[in-house]
Amino acid sequence: MKRFAIHSLFLLVAIIGFTGCRSVPITGRKQLMLTTSGYENELGVTSYAEYQEKYPRSTNAEYNQALDNCGRAIAEESGQTDFEWEFNVLETDIQNAFCLPGGKVAVYSGIMDIMQNEAELAFVVAHEVGHAIARHGGERMSWGYLQSFGGILVQLGLQSDLATAAYGIGTQVGVMLPFSRGNESEADLIGLILMSRAGYNPQAAVQFWTRFSQDSKSSMIGNLMSTHPCDEKRIEAMKQNMAMAEAEYQKAQNKKGFGAVFHHGR
Ligand SMILES: [Zn+2]
Repeated sequence: MKRFAIHSLFLLVAIIGFTGCRSVPITGRKQLMLTTSGYENELGVTSYAEYQEKYPRSTNAEYNQALDNCGRAIAEESGQTDFEWEFNVLETDIQNAFCLPGGKVAVYSGIMDIMQNEAELAFVVAHEVGHAIARHGGERMSWGYLQSFGGILVQLGLQSDLATAAYGIGTQVGVMLPFSRGNESEADLIGLILMSRAGYNPQAAVQFWTRFSQDSKSSMIGNLMSTHPCDEKRIEAMKQNMAMAEAEYQKAQNKKGFGAVFHHGR
């Protein structure tokens, strides 16, 4: 028993030492990574199909056009060549959006209803893309693996099954778990930089979050606020990163400003 525990510990250290670290694009933060992007992307495809079955595609031409425009531009700036990008506006009152591993993006019409323009959409999309290229889902799974592995070491001889435990965590890579504060700040920073490089005025980010955090139907389960907690500190941090974002925006080849203004059927 004891020998097995020691061997397992060595194995664990070896795995982490050889494969377990990665640098996040744009921010350069070192993160624990014990999954492969191939595996995460597969989960992304499966999960995306489920959401598409649950909600129909929006027929709002204004929304679809805007998502298509900013989605392509942001994807190009992401430098993520192994993603098979898809962008869909899904019809539901829920105010949320997500980008699954592999570049599967969905924005619900409910959140587009409270956006004023394409640049606000570009921020939301770039923020979600930020979570995906920073592989926050994979990082969370990796910590989960460590946790289950630790649990198994403790309960040696009991019926714990690493594969089952790991699978349980894997299936939660889907979107409706809140991210940590650190993940949110990182996705904000990546989002600000990507939207600016894609040619959108980064001021739209602060405008959107300020309005959304005041207006949102916060009791609604699964809305952007519940999966992406936002508070004054976060908005303050975005303002502090604004000079960096503005510099990227000034360098952008194809400036769109705030892009198309939404009429919301009016
Ligand atoms: Zn977020």
